[in-house]
Amino acid sequence: MDKILVCIKRVVDYNIKIRIKPDESGVITEGVKMSINPFDEIALEEALRVKESGNANEVIIVSIGPDDCQQQLRTGLAMGADRAILIQHDHIIEPLKVAKLLHKIVEQENPGLILLGKQAIDDDCNQTGQMLAELCSYPQATFASELTVNENSLKVIREVDQGLETLEVDLPAIVTTDLRMNEPRYVKLPDIMKAKKKPMDVMDANDFEISLEPSIKVISVTPPPPRESGIMLDGVDQLFVALKDKGLINE
Ligand code: AMP
Repeated sequence: MDKILVCIKRVVDYNIKIRIKPDESGVITEGVKMSINPFDEIALEEALRVKESGNANEVIIVSIGPDDCQQQLRTGLAMGADRAILIQHDHIIEPLKVAKLLHKIVEQENPGLILLGKQAIDDDCNQTGQMLAELCSYPQATFASELTVNENSLKVIREVDQGLETLEVDLPAIVTTDLRMNEPRYVKLPDIMKAKKKPMDVMDANDFEISLEPSIKVISVTPPPPRESGIMLDGVDQLFVALKDKGLINE
């Protein structure tokens, strides 16, 4: 295939302890370390491996979000992507609107394969890949843990509740990546320098004639209740009494 398109979301780094805004309107992102969504890093690593094995000519990364997304796109370029596209938008954007914007890029670039993460770790929606597949009328393989490129198709192993499912999908196709697909490479300093010279196209989301108005209203975001501290018990008899007291067993 000629091109692989990889969709990259800028999210709060997974090592950061999330703090909620005092007015419960969302999560504090100011002054917080931001990174590429981990599943998208896996998607990019896979795209680079497909290209390195001679099965693709170009890896393009695309992100939708504020101008600061350029930082994550530069990291993606340093990992090895050939060029980047930023669709600039300063407000929260729902999966369907993201999918509609990505669809425009798919129409423009005609990639043979589109890779996304199975979910973004900030909204946990797990929707964008599926919606994009519908908009493009392409086959989809979600939660992929292994991918083999054949001439006009892909063999994909998916992680499902019952075990592993093996699928064959015709290309072009949409694949969303699961955690065990690969281990993304580390970025080296010379690659960071080289990435500064790679092309980055910046577009305005408002130029696509797609309504970006949210259709969902977030009423409140609250932290989970603090975990109760544990108790030390002296043997199985005490354990039975404690479980009975909590109503977790009858006898
Ligand atoms: P979600 O449906 O929000 O859980 O996101 C699933 C995947 O869609 C992510 O792992 C990304 O690959 C892609 N995606 C979601 N939002 C964006 C965005 N703003 N820019 C680029 N890709 C995105």
